[in-house]
Amino acid sequence: MFWADKIAADAQVGSQGEIIVNDSKTPSGRVHVGSLRGVVIHDAIERASKHAGKPVKFIYGVDDYDALDTVPGYLDKAKFSPYLGFPLCNVPSPDENAPDYAKYFMGEFLEVFEYLGIKPEIYYLRDRYRSGQLNHHIDLFLKNAHLVREAYLEVSKAKRAENWLPFHPICENCGKIATTVTTDYNGKEVFYTCEPNATNWVKGCGHSGWVSPFDGNGKLPWKVEWVAKWDILGINIEMAGKDHSQKGGSRDVANSICRKVLGKEPPFHSPYEFILVNGTKMSSSKGVGSSAKEIADLIPPELLRFLMLRTPPKTVINFSPNYETITRLFRDYDALIDKSRSESKSESDMEELIPLLYSQLIEEIKSYQTFDFSTLISLLQVPHLDIKAEIENRSAAPLNEFDWQIANQRITSARKWLQDYADEEEKLVIYLDKIPDRVAELTPEQIAYLEQLIVNLKTNLDSSTWDGDTLQTTLFSTSKEVELPVKDAFKAVYLSFLGKERGPKAGFLLSYLDREFVIARLQAITNSTTGILG
Ligand SMILES: [Zn+2]
Repeated sequence: MFWADKIAADAQVGSQGEIIVNDSKTPSGRVHVGSLRGVVIHDAIERASKHAGKPVKFIYGVDDYDALDTVPGYLDKAKFSPYLGFPLCNVPSPDENAPDYAKYFMGEFLEVFEYLGIKPEIYYLRDRYRSGQLNHHIDLFLKNAHLVREAYLEVSKAKRAENWLPFHPICENCGKIATTVTTDYNGKEVFYTCEPNATNWVKGCGHSGWVSPFDGNGKLPWKVEWVAKWDILGINIEMAGKDHSQKGGSRDVANSICRKVLGKEPPFHSPYEFILVNGTKMSSSKGVGSSAKEIADLIPPELLRFLMLRTPPKTVINFSPNYETITRLFRDYDALIDKSRSESKSESDMEELIPLLYSQLIEEIKSYQTFDFSTLISLLQVPHLDIKAEIENRSAAPLNEFDWQIANQRITSARKWLQDYADEEEKLVIYLDKIPDRVAELTPEQIAYLEQLIVNLKTNLDSSTWDGDTLQTTLFSTSKEVELPVKDAFKAVYLSFLGKERGPKAGFLLSYLDREFVIARLQAITNSTTGILG
């Protein structure tokens, strides 16, 4: 059973008359692609529940009362440093297109939601605090602070002072929320101090006084806030990243507070793993990275969903926008598309197709004629090539409108990858006008191989059999014929056309080029090098 279907099968309709699935995010800066995993997972649970005929709603919280705790490297440090410790919704926006910092970065992330076709109901914590919706819970947690302290101590071994109360007012003097410590509560107001040493990353101003904790004057510590959200919104399912899900970690603390103070069971929880991104050398030097938005600009939505869905939540996803990972993602997806087109499908085939179905938003699988993505990347780098004619020629049947729609989308992705992510090593530069200097490195055995290759190409292949597979076979059989190790044989081909020792599948490389050109080039090389050697 697919993991999302399993969760949906066990899900219980809650107090709201439906299953409430919740996820949330602190909009502290550009959102890393890893944060999309939670979004896609919760969305899949919603879809699976609908599929199972259960009433369900996916909501997504923006934790914008959290403090700005660091100024991201891509922002002006001088401009934003004075706002360290402020609630994110009270920090100015990096540009005039958004009203504040939180909405600026959330806006960028929501564009990716839209791109992925994910439509949760979005709520901002600032609105919940300011409208008084959390007032009752703030009062409850302040009155039961001893139970909150007990939970911290029992679960995470964190000892809070006897007079510590679970609330952070926004300092009326300096505007910070990260530095305030509450030590008294009279039922209407809390007494707080803006502590100079409350954190090691920003100093409080020293102000102290009484203030009402209600209607947006401050916030609950986030583990406590988490519990309040569960209760107010009637949340039934909320998974959390592995970082919050360790034994004795935040989620365990929140669960304990929920039981102790509210006397209720916390929502269903299961941790999900990280997405590890190894930014390529090239991507960092080119200033493109792995934010959710950047990856969404590179990979079509259904493939991005597929990346997150095909791996069960508890397994790490290793993702780097390098050649190997990107081409494999497209290849795996297309392999399932091909499978979905096949007439006879076994039960296990059907099982395998489920992530594909989900990545296409659970309808019928929409299939198309696939075209190998790595071939496309190579073809796009061959000068003077009509890419559309080439795709047409290399496809088994004429392409229909949808096939072209997909093909064009792939062309865009491949171009984007070549432009922003490809390493010099991964690029294909074909020497069309001159023989690469590095042919000087060819050994007499390699020259002999190329000479025999010319003969075999001339006699065995005409322009109608000039295709990748036949060429690849010929390259292999010729190496056997002259008893040259395959590795050295292919190296000879790469040196002759690319001026380097490695390249894409050699037979395919030659298939991108004219038969006459290939033969002429090999002849020129063997003639000139024989001359030098002789
Ligand atoms: Zn202050």
